[in-house]
Amino acid sequence: MEITTVTASSILTRTSGYLSEIASHSLNCYRGCGFGNSLCGVGCYVRHNLWITRGQPWGSFVEAKWNAAALYEKEYATEQRWGRRKTGRFGVFLSSATEPFQPAEQRYGITNGVLQKMLDRPPDRLILQTHSHRVTDAIQTLCQLKQVCDLRVHISIETDYDRFPGGPGHGSPVEKRLAAGRALRDQGVWTIATIAPLMPLRDPEQFFSRIADSFDAVVIDHYIEGDGSQSGSRTLRTPLPVLMQNVEPSSVSLGYRDRMIDIARRFVARVGVGRGGFAGRFVGQDGGDEAAPCDKM
Ligand code: SF4
Repeated sequence: MEITTVTASSILTRTSGYLSEIASHSLNCYRGCGFGNSLCGVGCYVRHNLWITRGQPWGSFVEAKWNAAALYEKEYATEQRWGRRKTGRFGVFLSSATEPFQPAEQRYGITNGVLQKMLDRPPDRLILQTHSHRVTDAIQTLCQLKQVCDLRVHISIETDYDRFPGGPGHGSPVEKRLAAGRALRDQGVWTIATIAPLMPLRDPEQFFSRIADSFDAVVIDHYIEGDGSQSGSRTLRTPLPVLMQNVEPSSVSLGYRDRMIDIARRFVARVGVGRGGFAGRFVGQDGGDEAAPCDKM
């Protein structure tokens, strides 16, 4: 893994496609990901994004954008205006193409620098998307941020297997991610478990029961419809579907997702599906979408 620092030229990216319904902007403090060789990296859709990888193998490089916080401050007014005009809200999705709390964060603190800057210049909405229990390193800042913006912390837990058969280990242990969700929720931070992409679950009833104990809501997202292509073609270019099929053959179909949604609804009060769930919409009592804004604000 080659880790370097770079001077970025911009930091707030106006969203398009899948993300545009969720936030007006994405913000990536790193290029590359220290979790690239872990389980989530197997099906990571970024690994085939040449714009980001520039041809380098996913998991072999990380660039820390040391000037991210200064760029956020510089771009804030212009991008806030643009976000509000285009979407009605300046929303930041942090991060869409890297892990904000990957191991390099402990050394460089780039994500922390941006979060600190947001205390003075908050977005209207911040969605913090992470695969790491180290999100709790920022718990004090997040407690302050929830006072000044609509903050949602999404912690991805794609399976309940501690060690997924045939795959590499997790970048962050399942138990620790569950504990991180609970620690944040106990502080009044709105926390959502994102089962994304949904992988085979060893014990779905127990898993969703534990999610209900630790999170405010859950979002279930299958790679079909969820990886930015309608049919899951991005993920089909990775080894993930075969890995899943070897453990649970039905898991590569939307029928498996729908079965898991039914189980989740027995345990978790708010269950979202795919992009609608990431955007904060949850399945209503009648099975249709209903808006469920962050009621801790
Ligand atoms: S943490 Fe996110 S960006 Fe990094 S490899 Fe996993 S899925 Fe990809």
